[in-house]
Amino acid sequence: MTDMENVTRTTCPYCGVGCGVLIEKLTDGSVRVKGDPDHPANYGRLCSKGTALADTIGLEDRLLYPQINGKRASWDEALDSIASRFRQIIAEDGPDAIAFYVSGQILTEDYYAANKLMKGAIGSANIDTNSRLCMASSVAGHKRAFGADTVPGCYEDLELADLIILTGTNLAWCHPVLYQRIVQARKGNPDLKVILIDPRRTMTADIADLHLPISPDGDIALFLGLLAEISKSGCYNGDYVEAYTCGMQDAVSEANALSWDEIQSQTGLSSQELRRFYDLFINSEKTVTVYSQGVNQSRVGSNKVNAIINCHLATGRIGRPGMGPFSVTGQPNAMGGREVGGLANMLACHMDIENEAHRQIVGDFWQSEALPTKPGLKAIDLFQAVADGKIKALWIMSTNPVVSMPDANAVRAAIQSCPLVIVSDVQAHTDTLDLAHIKLPAAAWGEKDGTVTNSERCISRQRAFLPAPGEARADWWHMAEVGRRMGLEAQFDWQNPADIFREYAALSAEHNDGTRDFDIGAWQDRDDEAYASMEPFQWPARAGDVPSHTNQRFFATGGFFTPGRKARAIAVTTDGVSQAQSTSPDHAFILNTGRVRDHWHTMTRTARSARLSAHLSEPYCEIHIDDAKRLEIGDNDLVWIENGLGRVTVRAMISDRIKSGHLFVPMHWTDQYSANARIDQLVPSVKDPVSGQPASKSAHVRISRARIGSYGFAVLRDKPQALSLPYWTLARSKDGWRLEFALEEAPAAATPESIKAALAIDCANEPLAFFDLGKHRCRMAWFDGDKLVASVFLASEPLTLSREFVSSQLGGIWSGIAQRAQVIAGVPGKETPDKGKIICACMNVGLHEIAAAKSKGCCSVDAIGKATGAGTNCGSCKPEIAEILHDVAAE
Ligand code: SF4
Repeated sequence: MTDMENVTRTTCPYCGVGCGVLIEKLTDGSVRVKGDPDHPANYGRLCSKGTALADTIGLEDRLLYPQINGKRASWDEALDSIASRFRQIIAEDGPDAIAFYVSGQILTEDYYAANKLMKGAIGSANIDTNSRLCMASSVAGHKRAFGADTVPGCYEDLELADLIILTGTNLAWCHPVLYQRIVQARKGNPDLKVILIDPRRTMTADIADLHLPISPDGDIALFLGLLAEISKSGCYNGDYVEAYTCGMQDAVSEANALSWDEIQSQTGLSSQELRRFYDLFINSEKTVTVYSQGVNQSRVGSNKVNAIINCHLATGRIGRPGMGPFSVTGQPNAMGGREVGGLANMLACHMDIENEAHRQIVGDFWQSEALPTKPGLKAIDLFQAVADGKIKALWIMSTNPVVSMPDANAVRAAIQSCPLVIVSDVQAHTDTLDLAHIKLPAAAWGEKDGTVTNSERCISRQRAFLPAPGEARADWWHMAEVGRRMGLEAQFDWQNPADIFREYAALSAEHNDGTRDFDIGAWQDRDDEAYASMEPFQWPARAGDVPSHTNQRFFATGGFFTPGRKARAIAVTTDGVSQAQSTSPDHAFILNTGRVRDHWHTMTRTARSARLSAHLSEPYCEIHIDDAKRLEIGDNDLVWIENGLGRVTVRAMISDRIKSGHLFVPMHWTDQYSANARIDQLVPSVKDPVSGQPASKSAHVRISRARIGSYGFAVLRDKPQALSLPYWTLARSKDGWRLEFALEEAPAAATPESIKAALAIDCANEPLAFFDLGKHRCRMAWFDGDKLVASVFLASEPLTLSREFVSSQLGGIWSGIAQRAQVIAGVPGKETPDKGKIICACMNVGLHEIAAAKSKGCCSVDAIGKATGAGTNCGSCKPEIAEILHDVAAE
């Protein structure tokens, strides 16, 4: 039973679902993680990442002390140095020569401090955030249509809808708890229909009644076609359009200008698929359209968002239970960053930098005469300005642009050329932190206090349950100290995050008479104790309100935040789409990038967890079976993907889930965990002209089988350092590390000495080795006493041995030669069954166990769960189990 006295209520630091988490401190110092049954985002559920949070809070590889030019420094030295360089740069080059690049990972209080320091103190708007890469097109679409960045609905709408359209979103992997809520809703409402619109048949297709494998950026044509159909049907809500919108006639005219043939050709969908989709929408009053990066990360992302919103405005399906357009955010506090003005074109509290009245409010409130009058540089332009030498000081917080920005190699070169680079992070090494002149140790998830906002406007507390190690301090404190040292003691006189939150709440209410959506004035006078015990609440929470989560919605009866209080239907066209879809013969494949189920962003947290690393432990490229055959690429071959910007080496995964001519590569792998798999180096710096969001899903590339001599796999007790191999990928395993690698030479050329040197194996003992040169393979293992130090397998073709089985040997006792021979055999005996690839990370259930249960008559996901435990904790693996059952049945 849980003793609530030892329990901290906090929130998950990963995706924008914003699940509540209970952390129980156990007597041995470890923690137990559970979903918070009272949190309105998840009601006790967690996905695999949330469930494994306890694996990620260790102190290994933490940045513990400030450093200047690689040497340990005191906080005073580091902060004085930053403040004095900032003053000097402002005097010599002006405030716009300083830039901040922040993150949807930091808390709202951190964000508020960063925004105030840059816009209120330094006097520039050159602060942008990695949320620009995630949902800037949604912000732009909301602002164009609603006059403010307002998410109209709430999660409950998913349970009340009769039709859920999931477009450009792999909810099963990227927002798993929302996916589980829909699965549950279907059990209660068998009539609920789900449509998935995605070029790939992702795991989310598991619940889809209709999957539309749309061409990249074909969404505009699809929703223009829908608007045209709506305008001719009975679901067109003339009363709503007349009373609460403007511009609908022009929007419908543009929609009508597109012929059915053009819609078919731009969407790549058949007439029957289009008809079914349109009929379902027209006949389902309660419709929610959920979208995320597949819509936003496009050169026409803002237009896609408005094409979707137009359909909901035309039908009046907005702001009522079970209806509305619904942008779900990628990051835990992307919404908080939007609210607090973390984007270069916003002021705090949803106020606009280009609105003079808003500038007056913020300037007066901050007592700042420095407030900029024009927007700052958005992410791509910001790093271009760094490359051009216009930025003399760059402060990067909690993000890793060397991995995640488009044209990532150019971004790395730009950062290397910047005269002063400050990076605040929790890790001792990241691809970006390693380039910093000044490194500032930040408090990590379990060590800091503040608030975050999730995708349904719900603000929740993140609470510390661990002391910050070494000299790590909260991000807001770093910035407040710099502000004070720049002579602004009064403006940055915060003692704790509650002080910041009260100030933020007061600003949101300042001269706000309901004409601005974001208002949390109810919190401006609450004391530290109230802040400490804050319950999740949705905004708005205006002065006098009792903050709570009541599934508030916007716009059922108008009340938009435009000057005339009417929504704007934007006359969207398909201009710009054909440019995105064309390919050159040289770079004939369209590269889609995205997330996998068990990793998060650049893996600085999830790669610490052996169980999260077990599901997909290597960077890979999904390629259609026909393309692979034509290019003579086999499953598990290493492949090169390249274009004029760079080349990556990843594992081929042949699949019929992806369209021919398309590739998918995850965005997570960095130089810390792989030789050359930073996929964003191949993504050009193309952006949506309205939102500035990069088009991360439509780079043009070529793919070929990599020329290598040997494929290798090793398990290692110690983490190898400084590997220099044509290919390698490291993943944590229970008792050490798994290493996939490749050599230029054939297996016959390998010797125990050469392998030992190449993999940096630290063992003086002679290895046990086996060479089968006829079959072009060799195996060797090093032992220290009866413990395994390393076992290595090498072959001229991709190795088929079970990684799970070989990894499990690291923790064994190997005393006799017969036992040791089993290690280099790499094949499980009868007494040591092989789980196979791990499918359920929570319950550690592998593919072979699921297949075995199926062969014994377990034919449903629930039956597999009962027999093996798979899918019975968070349920994130259920779609994959269903797929395995389907495949086994087919075999
Ligand atoms: Fe965390 Fe998973 Fe919930 Fe997202 S869905 S907030 S990753 S537990």
